Amino acid sequence: MFVKRALSAAEEKKAADTLNQDRVHTFRRMIVRAGRIGISGHERPDGDCIGSCLGLFNYIKDNYPDKQVEVNLQPIPDKFLFLKNSDRICSEPREIPPYDLYIALDCSEPERMGEFYGYFEQAGETICIDHHFTNEGFGDLAFIEPEASSTCEILVGLMEESRISQACAEALYTGIVHDTGVFKHTNTSRRTLEMAGLLLDKGVNTEMIIDETFFKKTYLQNQILGRALIESILLLDGRMIFSVISRKDMDFYGIDSADLDGIIDQLRVTEKVECALLMHEIERGTYKVSMRSKDKVDVSEIALSFGGGGHKKAAGCTMYGAKRDIIMNIAEQVELQLSGKDEEP
Ligand code: AMP
Ligand code: MN
Ligand code: MN
Repeated sequence: MFVKRALSAAEEKKAADTLNQDRVHTFRRMIVRAGRIGISGHERPDGDCIGSCLGLFNYIKDNYPDKQVEVNLQPIPDKFLFLKNSDRICSEPREIPPYDLYIALDCSEPERMGEFYGYFEQAGETICIDHHFTNEGFGDLAFIEPEASSTCEILVGLMEESRISQACAEALYTGIVHDTGVFKHTNTSRRTLEMAGLLLDKGVNTEMIIDETFFKKTYLQNQILGRALIESILLLDGRMIFSVISRKDMDFYGIDSADLDGIIDQLRVTEKVECALLMHEIERGTYKVSMRSKDKVDVSEIALSFGGGGHKKAAGCTMYGAKRDIIMNIAEQVELQLSGKDEEP
């Protein structure tokens, strides 16, 4: 009787590498054979979403100038407008023929493409590239790498190094900077830094990108940050903190969701806090909820239970109803997780 020999670890790694190389080649071939290519990220685009969309757009435009490529994405914050071709982003859904190829970036599920999801559904071929571990994989070809810091990091690995221009590198570097909190979060790995190093070699202006897109705040952004901190409340014996920004306050300051970047991170670093929660009212009774944790709470589990998603230490969802009920529902789950951890040896 023929007995199949178990593969050694080295053989297994070689087989996995070969499989991955095949998939990388398939990715490149799908781009080569498509005439019209559409790209989307998620709603309320963040740095990784914008960086990955524009990085891929510039990569295709630089290397295949004859292709028709479009990025369909909600409007992006002004601070990202320095990225090449940001002015070519299409933010209005239109009646257009199906794309040959549609690529979803940084979307944990197809619905996160919002009003552009229809383009993905109707496209001839589809690809999904993402790093959310809640992503179950969708599309004809999916690269889901939960251990990657960012979608931009995955993209660097899929591109041919010699074909990455400075403009493409700047977009991808911006995405990595944002999703790692400037190489600080625990999602920063050796590979993250190696990929960032590769991009640096392309002439990326790191200081400008980090200062202008990550740390810089307008006067109004600082004011709302101050208000959110002053009005924050501790729960669960100081192990949870929350702050709520109402529609009225946002209208008063004339700010939108993107102006709230960084507030949740400041709440999270409060001494003793294990879980931070920031809610802002998108419209009356509808809240965008952001959660961040230190070590003990898996916020993606909580976000997932309310129809959202994300990562263990950074997750979000949209919730409806009275803010008190929303906070209590979340606090209950945080408490449950914390009590479980407290009992651990
Ligand atoms: P945020 O708090 O919006 O910065 O989001 C933190 C993380 O959770 C990001 O990786 C988001 O992609 C993810 N996330 C936020 N909101 C949602 C949602 N409604 N559905 C799925 N994932 C989300
Ligand atoms: Mn994102
Ligand atoms: Mn991301």
